[in-house]
Amino acid sequence: MTRVTVGQRTALRTCPLCEAVCGLELTLDDEDHIVRVRGDRQDPFSAGFLCPKGASLGHLDEDPDRITEPMIRDRATDAWRTASWQEAFDLIAERIPALVAEYGRGSAALYLGNPNAHTVAGALYVPVLARALSTRNIYSASTADQMPKQVASGLMFGDPLTVPVPDLDRTDYLLMLGANPLESNGSLCTAPDFPGRLKALRRRGGRMVVVDPRRTRTAKLADEHLFIRPGSDAYLLFGIVHTLFARDLLDVRVAVEGLDEVRAAAQDFTPEVVAGRTGVPAETIVRLAAELAAAPSAAVYARIGTCTTEFGTLTQWLVEVINALTGNLDRAGGAMFSTAAALGIVRTRPFRIARWTSRVRELPEAMGEFPIATLAEEITAPGEGQVRALITVAGNPALSAPSGTRLDAALAELEFMVSVDRYLNETTRHADVILPPPRIAQSPHYDFALLQFAVRDYARYSPALVPLDGRPSEAEVIARLALAVSGQQPEPDRDPLTTVDELVIAGTLHKAGLLERRAELVGDNSTEQRIDMMLRLGPYGQWRPDAVRTPVTEPYGGMNLQVLLDNPHGVDLGPLRPGRLPEVLRTASGRVELAPPELIADVVRLRARLADVAPELLLIGRRQLRSNNSWMHNIAPLVGGSNTCTLHINPHDATRLGLTDRAVVKSAAGMLTVPVEPTEEIMPGVVSLPHGWGHTDSEQAVASAHAGVNANALTDDSLVDAPSGNAVFNGVPVTLTPA
Ligand code: SF4
Repeated sequence: MTRVTVGQRTALRTCPLCEAVCGLELTLDDEDHIVRVRGDRQDPFSAGFLCPKGASLGHLDEDPDRITEPMIRDRATDAWRTASWQEAFDLIAERIPALVAEYGRGSAALYLGNPNAHTVAGALYVPVLARALSTRNIYSASTADQMPKQVASGLMFGDPLTVPVPDLDRTDYLLMLGANPLESNGSLCTAPDFPGRLKALRRRGGRMVVVDPRRTRTAKLADEHLFIRPGSDAYLLFGIVHTLFARDLLDVRVAVEGLDEVRAAAQDFTPEVVAGRTGVPAETIVRLAAELAAAPSAAVYARIGTCTTEFGTLTQWLVEVINALTGNLDRAGGAMFSTAAALGIVRTRPFRIARWTSRVRELPEAMGEFPIATLAEEITAPGEGQVRALITVAGNPALSAPSGTRLDAALAELEFMVSVDRYLNETTRHADVILPPPRIAQSPHYDFALLQFAVRDYARYSPALVPLDGRPSEAEVIARLALAVSGQQPEPDRDPLTTVDELVIAGTLHKAGLLERRAELVGDNSTEQRIDMMLRLGPYGQWRPDAVRTPVTEPYGGMNLQVLLDNPHGVDLGPLRPGRLPEVLRTASGRVELAPPELIADVVRLRARLADVAPELLLIGRRQLRSNNSWMHNIAPLVGGSNTCTLHINPHDATRLGLTDRAVVKSAAGMLTVPVEPTEEIMPGVVSLPHGWGHTDSEQAVASAHAGVNANALTDDSLVDAPSGNAVFNGVPVTLTPA
């Protein structure tokens, strides 16, 4: 029982800060300030786990440097002033439709930052904004992060959201590449207390192997750590695939297409050949293949360190090829598919890439987005379709995109820019209008995106904890922005949010043939009614005749919002279910496409680079537990200690190069001066800089005082992973000299 003092209250909420979706127990004082944060021990998924970021939620929620009222910038003087909501929306409604009318629909672009994956507004209302803008110039943090995973999944399973996750709680063998969940808390693998789940794997006699150019905290927890040259993961995985074929270790248990094509593609990548490129000895590669094949159950999992490379999509593809070849795809203890409770996007046609290409560099679209690596040139290159206006929602691409310096300069050339953001930062300083979201405590929470990748089926809804006090909700800000960019004014006496929600509800129910059941939806507002509808129509839903039954939903006749309101600690829906493949597949063949033509074609590119001589030094990124991309460096309790912006370098390299204190780092794209931190935990020939730093143009006092440098001054937006267009952040050639 939580003890609270007079005037205080406790409230339950999901942490919105990372993919681990931990349940929180918050204490609020009589003025609704968050004064204490604890892990919610009764949450059946996170069981009380809390990391330092979650513990700082109160500081973040009411950061004194956040923006609380709309802001308008005077371009002549560069001065900011506060404005009313009406004035801000009026200005947007005046400028963006006029620019679009003059220059065409593609002249307005949209950029979505990572936090959109963690908010109800991002999931339910940003798509409405994108439709209102009616542009193909849509960009997001996805192409600086996980797009290769989604492209590989889309081509193999027919749906980019059908991403297998390692069955952490049951697997006997985990091979992990380019992932550091002890710092990141996991990604595209929603698993609160990831560290505890890995320790449990080892306690029950399982084996864990980590492949990484750094001996990370995760690697130290493993049975075995293997150094690998940055960007060479696809070669290692091909070496394993080759061995599985060559030694007849196949155990394919799901219906697949393209086995012979995979065998042919792997032909040249013998362990001996790839050993030189990866730095992993041939006999180790053969042993890994044999261990994966022999384990009672096994899963290969690869994340951001392998996605943000030149061969990111091939790497993600080969991960699932190995899971399939060893009989571990869609099997308990292997790589499995979550069953999220809320109705997701219902895909009727197989996923495709490159349905259209970008204007300047003809880079492929994926999931309706262009690569962030091409935004700068789309703004600066003159011609029809040039981007003249930009809307950013919860994103700071000036720090998080490749060639950040170039993008920063490009943003200054825009004719009009709007940012929905809580901070005046390196990106939003270029905006004409900033629309701030409310406090986190003033927003409801449901994890539409992340529960699709959970290692256990689970659902939890958190209503807003604190009233809005007359200001618009985040959802309403986005809905009104959608109206403004399409040149519409809200109808008098009609709430734009309700208008949007009613349209969506009516359309969805009409399609489902359930329009007459509209009145059954519960919820205090139209957003909650939408969530209720999505739960009722989801796989566990009350309105689904084929619903998955569970003890907790059964008394309600199936999942609905009331189930979650009555169970505020969250609802456990059980371990991942094996044998889901026929149901989740959306491929034309109705089988797992082991050899999608787009990826087999890209193997040519991989093969061509096999004999490349590795540059002397390669730069990689680095995750930090108390950091969250670019946006949590203003929280004083999180800054300092290991959470600093330094260049990790092997002592052997530091001595060889005469580096003792600070180094000048040069790449093809730029140059930085940065403190060096020699450590044996990074392999020789590799240096590492954390990303998201470089707060030199920010109004955030703490972040400015610990500015660090922008690692993306060194990355190069001309380099992308070909199939997905994802930016390349790992394996950037650099040279170092003493500063
Ligand atoms: S691990 Fe992620 S979700 Fe959990 S408390 Fe930390 S930041 Fe929040």
